Amino acid sequence: MICLDNFFTGTKRNIEHLIGHPRFELLRHDVTFPLYVEVDEIYNLACPASPIHYQHDPVQTTKTSVHGAINMLGLAKRLRCRILQASTSEVYGDPAVHPQTEDYWGNVNPIGPRSCYDEGKRCAETLFFDYLRQHRLEIKVARIFNTYGPRMHPNDGRVVSNFVVQALQGEPITIYGDGNQTRSFCYVDDLVDGLMRLMGTAADFTGPVNLGNPGEFTIRRLAEMVIDMTGSKSKLVAKPLPADDPRQRQPNIALAKRALGWEPRIPLEDGLKLTTAYFDGLLRGTSVEATT
Ligand code: UDP
Repeated sequence: MICLDNFFTGTKRNIEHLIGHPRFELLRHDVTFPLYVEVDEIYNLACPASPIHYQHDPVQTTKTSVHGAINMLGLAKRLRCRILQASTSEVYGDPAVHPQTEDYWGNVNPIGPRSCYDEGKRCAETLFFDYLRQHRLEIKVARIFNTYGPRMHPNDGRVVSNFVVQALQGEPITIYGDGNQTRSFCYVDDLVDGLMRLMGTAADFTGPVNLGNPGEFTIRRLAEMVIDMTGSKSKLVAKPLPADDPRQRQPNIALAKRALGWEPRIPLEDGLKLTTAYFDGLLRGTSVEATT
């Protein structure tokens, strides 16, 4: 296995346990540059996914999704190998259809602060389907809904890591807006299982297919769960709602169930316990390997 990372948001610590394994190789590489390697399958997960990270250098974010997709698709074309794209529920924007099904075309602002990510990922989907039509590539497109778990960066900026770290440190829990917006949170192990099943599907199955946990929670409810779980004394504080923040998000996973035989196994309560244990270890300086 060759693992590529430019370490913009990732850390070497996350793959430390794999370094030295005879079948694992690490390359520091940015997908916006061409890559020549020999592989049998490509998983393209490149792109910062947290709003604070992808808005830090929006032009680079679009480049990562678009140039990155072109480079990885070019590699797949040369090798005639399968390629999987980690797309996103953000292609649905602030959705007018609820829960979101794969045939919904979305409600995306093309010129807002989230557009570099949303439109970059949408363009990457276009490129994947054009490489399928034009070059007969074997493509697989997953639309990933909010995912969380151990090995997230403590300053990732996304809601689960923020709330857990804030609760563990006794800091105020920052609720953006009224906290009534919803998200559906998928534990990382479930997601990885879904991605591998998708890669293993028959050649004619392309997706796009939603991968996420249909359990839908308001952000306020998530904050309460984290406080209960950690026994924290943290108070909730209101912060302004970021521009274009989607009101609701919940995957319809009927297609994933049918085509991949997949559905998430780990409920939010259990996943939050594992995530809290991880961050607790990290903040105390003792590493915790959370497994399920
Ligand atoms: N959010 C929040 N407090 C935080 C971080 C995020 O209330 O400290 C909210 C954010 O406004 C959004 C939801 O939690 O409504 C999920 O945000 P996140 O950045 O995790 O992912 P998104 O789904 O918006 O890309």
